[in-house]
Amino acid sequence: MTAKTAPVRTPVADAAPIHHWDPVRAAIDGWEWLARLSEIWWTRSAGRAAIDAASRSHFDALVEFARARSPFYRDAWRGLPARRLRRDELPVVTKAALMARFDDWVTVPEVTLARVELFLADRRQIGERFLDRFVVWKSSGSTGVPGIFVQDSSALSTFDALTALHPDPEQPGTPYSWPLPIHGGRAALVSATGDHFAGIASWQRLCQSSPWIAARGFSIMDPLPRLVARLNAYQPASVASYPTMLALLAAERKAGRLRIDPVRLWSGGECLMPSARAEIESAFGCRVVNEYGASECMSIAFGCSEGWLHVNADWVVLEPVDDDYQPTPPGEASRTVLLTNLANRVQPIIRYDLGDSVIVKPDPCACGSPLPAIQVEGRHDDVVSMTAPDGHVVRLPPLALTTIVEEAAHVHRFQIVQTAADRLTLRLDRHDERRRQAAWRAAAGALRRYLVRQSLPNVRVGLDERGPVADRCSGKLREVVVARTTTGGHSHGSLRTGAR
Ligand SMILES: [Zn+2]
Repeated sequence: MTAKTAPVRTPVADAAPIHHWDPVRAAIDGWEWLARLSEIWWTRSAGRAAIDAASRSHFDALVEFARARSPFYRDAWRGLPARRLRRDELPVVTKAALMARFDDWVTVPEVTLARVELFLADRRQIGERFLDRFVVWKSSGSTGVPGIFVQDSSALSTFDALTALHPDPEQPGTPYSWPLPIHGGRAALVSATGDHFAGIASWQRLCQSSPWIAARGFSIMDPLPRLVARLNAYQPASVASYPTMLALLAAERKAGRLRIDPVRLWSGGECLMPSARAEIESAFGCRVVNEYGASECMSIAFGCSEGWLHVNADWVVLEPVDDDYQPTPPGEASRTVLLTNLANRVQPIIRYDLGDSVIVKPDPCACGSPLPAIQVEGRHDDVVSMTAPDGHVVRLPPLALTTIVEEAAHVHRFQIVQTAADRLTLRLDRHDERRRQAAWRAAAGALRRYLVRQSLPNVRVGLDERGPVADRCSGKLREVVVARTTTGGHSHGSLRTGAR
């Protein structure tokens, strides 16, 4: 579930989605979805052994397919025996290695990097079909390299079915994805909307394929009072957003400015911390449904009533590993996790270093789910609280700030540090001084324009002489850091910017 926007560009949000509904395609997709839905339902009803068997069979089929159709994997596995391969025999892959050989990685020759980039350059096509068959989105470069991900209808049907089968913790027995009978079932997505990010692209696709759904996208780039006014006017029955954004909306509702009564909240794109969950649930008086996904794999795991995330193990393989890519035992935090997306054959993602730290629950979950349970420890970015000239505090979602810098300066390794109630500094990589200065000028201009729109013309933006500094505890780079105690405090949210 990975979405975002730059302030300089026209956001797609805030308008009802443009529907290009094709009844024939909808019927085919509908059948595919129904078939997958029943397959998943039967597998899961049969328990853990059946889930593991399905996972093994999907894995073997994917490996065989990748070996036959992907020159990248054929090369990577050249020295391996011709027999059926065990999972641990396959080398780990990284986004950088895959993106460097994009045309060899994909298994459909018409899907080339040049064509996909041309498609992505047109922001009017967010969520539209690429080559009339595929849905495409890009991820941010939180690990230093941006990624481009292509899904075919079979992969999308699988992820739609996985989502549809997750029970709503608020209404047991009802699938989460069923439309709600109140407020006209109106659904709101508050996300980064101005580019082809996974969140907004998959949302637009859903709206286009199901024109009867009342859904609207809202931009996280909007000043909070404006966003609040728009949500008040729309009165959604459900709201989907990042936990840091939901926490900001929760504070607005507590203060009486946000006057909406959704009965369902969906949190994704970032990791939901227990403190943020409690804050959001108490403000809105309803449960938050938590989903763990990434641009590389839309729905990896889904939250249960016990606060754990259950991995869609029949269609997703997650291997928690240490620094040497050796398995981490259950109950211990891994250094990273290897992802295999068993549903997507256009771009096989097999033992891919995703970068998140996870803990596998060593014993069965009290919720009764047969799926393995995990907790995810992603990166932690701070919500920034700044003081406006009239003294009031303006809180900014970290994802808005990182999106602006990435989009304006085309940099993917940086850090935004709040050093005072009216001061932000930017840390950029130092190896090329000319590029660094050009990136600084572009980022500073975009940040200043954004701050003015947030009623913060007084906030100064400076360039830090240091490059980005990784977190001392986790060794990971936090992109947005509050370096001092500021007015209004700040809340934490663990962020996977890759999943916008
Ligand atoms: Zn559970």
